[in-house]
Amino acid sequence: MTEPANLLLDSLPPPDRAALLTSATRIRFQLGEDLITPGQMIEAVHFPLSGIISTVNEMADGRSVEAFMVGREGVAGIEATTIPMRSGSRQTIQLTGEAMRIDAGRVRALANERPAIRRMLALYHAGIQRELEQTAACHALHQAERRLAKWLLRCHDRADSDTIQLTQEYMAAMLGSQRTTVNEAAQTLQANGAVRYARGKIQVLSRSALEASACECYRKITVHHAETGEAA
Ligand SMILES: [Zn+2]
Repeated sequence: MTEPANLLLDSLPPPDRAALLTSATRIRFQLGEDLITPGQMIEAVHFPLSGIISTVNEMADGRSVEAFMVGREGVAGIEATTIPMRSGSRQTIQLTGEAMRIDAGRVRALANERPAIRRMLALYHAGIQRELEQTAACHALHQAERRLAKWLLRCHDRADSDTIQLTQEYMAAMLGSQRTTVNEAAQTLQANGAVRYARGKIQVLSRSALEASACECYRKITVHHAETGEAA
């Protein structure tokens, strides 16, 4: 078994990291699988080692949109790390991978005992809050093509490959857009030389072209996760 490569776990002092890992089970999750459905108790939190867990909100008419994604930089189920919580959203697997799964009650107990764990979770939670604020503005104000470029960069940041398995239907569901809108946006990105799209797979050809096409939110969200109000 190789060492875990979750950035949050790796940011902890070794004794705190070991305390969490003692209670962890390494699991594999598959594309399309749901870790949790809306209304369900969050029994476990997941620290991905690879792959992507998406938090998706669904409307009564069947449409959906992704609120945020979690890869090896984060933890899924953060809202249950302070008090027991039900999920308001679906946690679905966007990219097959592995995670360290830990009972949510155990994480809460360890966070109470260990300030370093509490601080790590609080910082991540604050980062997600800022990300959601930015995403609310992004959904209301930014064009589909720029949002798609941002979203693809965020997927690419968390993937181990330049080729990502993504159907247009899936991208439309993540972006809250019509399939035709996503198709047009993907064609523009392809014409710019940023990506190649074929048979349900997106290949990232040029990060710089994709970054030039993305809205400002890509950079802002990445920066937000690193900011605190603490003195240096
Ligand atoms: Zn944006």
